[in-house]
Parts: sequence; C-alpha cells; structure tokens
Amino acid sequence: PPLHRQRHQFVIDFVMKNKPRRVADLGCSECRLLKQLKFHREIEQLVGVDVNGGKIKKKMHGLGPLSADYLQPTYDQLQIELYQGSVTQRDARLRGFDLVTCIELIEHLTLTDLEHFSAVVFGYTTPVNVIVSTPNSEFNVLLPGLSGFRDRDHKFEWNRAEFKSWALKVCFEYGYDVEFTGVGEAPPGQQDCVGFCTQIGVFHRRRGRDHCGALPGDGGETVFPYTLLYSVNY
Ligand code: SAM
Repeated sequence: PPLHRQRHQFVIDFVMKNKPRRVADLGCSECRLLKQLKFHREIEQLVGVDVNGGKIKKKMHGLGPLSADYLQPTYDQLQIELYQGSVTQRDARLRGFDLVTCIELIEHLTLTDLEHFSAVVFGYTTPVNVIVSTPNSEFNVLLPGLSGFRDRDHKFEWNRAEFKSWALKVCFEYGYDVEFTGVGEAPPGQQDCVGFCTQIGVFHRRRGRDHCGALPGDGGETVFPYTLLYSVNY
C-alpha cells in the first residue's frame, strides 16, 4: 500500500490495540485519518485540528453519519469536532486526550514553532499517548529523482539521530517515554543502513504525570483560540 495508507494503518493498529476513548489528530488536513477512525466505536470523541481551514472544509461533511448509522443505531455515542487552529497555540479543549496523532506535521513547522508545539502538546494538553511521524532523511537516497526535501513546504527533514535527539529532549522536559519505529521498508540488505522511509515516535506519558492545571506563566486562564468549523454527534 502507498506510504500515506501505511502511516494511517499504523495509527489504526495502535487504536485497535490500546482502545483510546478520546483521540485528536493534529494537522488533520482533509480528515482522511479521522474518516477511518470513526469506524472504531470504542472511540467516544474525535477531534481534528489544522491551521488551514480550507483543507478541513473540503471534505469534512464526509465525517457525518452514514445511512447505516441510522439503520443500526449504537448506544455508543461518537462526538466529532474539527477546529481551525495552530498547534503552536494552547486551546483548553485539547487537554486530557488518550491519544494525539501528528502525522507528517512537525516538518512543516519552523524550529521555533516546533518548540511551541512541544510545549503545547506535551506540556499543556498532556495526552496519555502521542504518535509523531516525520520523514527519515536517510531514506531519501532511495527516492528516485529527489533533490532537496520531499515537499516544498518542509522546513527540515531529519535523520534518525536528529529525530531521536528531539524526542528524547521532549521526554526529559515533559515526562514522557518514547519508542521508535517506522513504516516504509527499504529493500533487503539496506534496512539497517537507511532505516524506514517514515520514522515514527510513540510517546507514553509517565505515571504520576497527570496534568495538574495551569502551566507557569499562563496565568491559569482558560483559553479557546481555535475556531470550531464542524461538530457532529451520533
Ligand atoms: N496528517 C495528514 C496526513 O496524514 O495525511 C496531513 C499532513 S500534511 C503533510 C501537513 C498538515 O499540517 C497540513 O494540512 C497543514 O495545513 C498542517 N499544518 C501546518 N502547520 C500547522 C500548524 N501550525 N498547526 C496546525 N496544522 C498545521
């Protein structure tokens, strides 16, 4: 399957295994991952966030109930909400999730914005689990015709050591553990040398790190800067 499908399948597999009830997808774009996740009815709340409201609006109505959902009503309620907003900004509605996914998002942020992102996601919203995927630049030698980054909007592409060093710093600062993996395998013989095409970090919040209210410096006020674009309940 194409790589974007493999990345989303990685999330689906994680959801089937860990059964999170509240899931947020940051940088959800046209909501493709959310559309797959809505079939996993252990999930009670699904939230998508993207800075580009136009992308969200394009396909968001596909998240509504199918006629089968009316014919076979379930007792498990699902609430879906989509927001236009930046992952560099704190919004109180994003706190306390079981799983936050950031699929091919961080490489679109400047390094300054990446610092804000880490503080917001790991330091403020404090989900139990976070899945972060990003290109592995070591794999680029195997991509034919590629010169420079894989996408014109990428601000950086990291090798495995760079991703690891960022992830371990986040863990140290915000009280998480991380496991490294990936999707998109290199041909046999080259796997150790270049790694996966997409590198993935799966972060788990350490015990005893339940979020405890305000961060120093935010005055404790509740903030809702994101704009609600879509909301459905069924
Ligand atoms: N996650 C999707 C997927 O798996 O196919 C799409 C990833 S797309 C390559 C990156 C997305 O991140 C874009 O939709 C872009 O608008 C969004 N994005 C970039 N900067 C952002 C920010 N500061 N806050 C929220 N979303 C952002």
